Amino acid sequence: MNAARISPKGLRRVAAGHPWIFRSDIERRPTREAGVVAVEDFRGKPIGWALWSPASEISLRMIERDPRSIIDAEWWDTTIGRAVARRAVIRERANAYRLIHGEGDGLPSLICDRYDRWLVVQLLSAGLEAERAPIVAALQRHCAPDGILARNDAAVRTRERLPRETSLLAGDVPREIEVVEDGVRFIAAPWDGQKTGAFLDQRENRALVSRVARGRALDCFSYHGSFALHLARSALSVTSLDISAPALERGRENARRNGLTNIDFIEADAFDFLRDAERAGERYDTIVVDPPAFAKSRSAIAGALRGYKDINLRAMRLLAPGGLLFTASCSFHLSRALFVEMLESAAADSGRRIVLREIRGQPLDHPELLTVPETGYLKGALLEAMD
Ligand code: SAH
Repeated sequence: MNAARISPKGLRRVAAGHPWIFRSDIERRPTREAGVVAVEDFRGKPIGWALWSPASEISLRMIERDPRSIIDAEWWDTTIGRAVARRAVIRERANAYRLIHGEGDGLPSLICDRYDRWLVVQLLSAGLEAERAPIVAALQRHCAPDGILARNDAAVRTRERLPRETSLLAGDVPREIEVVEDGVRFIAAPWDGQKTGAFLDQRENRALVSRVARGRALDCFSYHGSFALHLARSALSVTSLDISAPALERGRENARRNGLTNIDFIEADAFDFLRDAERAGERYDTIVVDPPAFAKSRSAIAGALRGYKDINLRAMRLLAPGGLLFTASCSFHLSRALFVEMLESAAADSGRRIVLREIRGQPLDHPELLTVPETGYLKGALLEAMD
């Protein structure tokens, strides 16, 4: 089997800490089908090992920078074990969290989330798919789950010429799993929920809002009420709104499971709801705004910024004096700098004096590697209305 040989440009990228090598930076393609291949620089010097995806624009993803290493079952076991160990501190607070965050954990294109006794994985490249057996074996050994589900229905799989499907890789996985996060119970839907069944990346921010929430609270884009449930423990009353009826139905069930009776679930478009509330002169003491990614591509940033600004501007105007707003964006294409700029511009137009109390990033189980911008997407801010 011959090694993949990469161009000087590809080598510079790798040296700068990025694992991706694009098709245009490959000087000699390996002859084997998708899987693990040795990589050498343009002079033929070995530089490590990568996952090889012959059909993809991202043709190589570096997994090991020591050419003397051997990528066998033991290698996968050690590398996956390291990612699992990193999450030990979360285990005491929650039984749903991300075990493997792809490139952020040095395991490009591999996602694995834990929901109590079950795991949900995503194998997002052809090179990785070829290594499925040792990956599943390592997960079994480190986590001993009752079942492993592959949510391989993500659109990026088509770019790898891989089928989009949801299938069991081991044992059995229920349609609904009750999990606990800082004492709050909620149902995850691994087979058909968003992402791998829940939004695990907001755990630390939910803990933050649950510490500061009070009075009348509003959770926009609530999904199954994850923020609303946490708000409800400290606020007097909570309005939880989402455009999806099935998500709200699960939200109601979640409220019941937690014995919370102070949450109102409302099916509404957040833009309309906020506009109407503003007209009606409503005021809230605590607001959460956690919209879906408005910018799905670089070219969509301008439109997305208008959406983010609109929603944040209205939320700011609805704050009671001293009120708090937690706002987030999960658009990878919207940088942290643009996010803050958008908030500044919304604050300027809101006619309110808004204080930036805290800027938030990703939690420990979603490591954002500075050399790999693609590992970071979630930004948040806690704001306060001064008067
Ligand atoms: N805050 C949630 C995640 C929100 S995901 C959590 O922490 O779990 C974004 C949610 O926004 C989805 O549930 C989606 O149904 C909802 N949504 C999308 N467009 C909307 C709109 N215009 N108005 C209200 N909700 C919307």
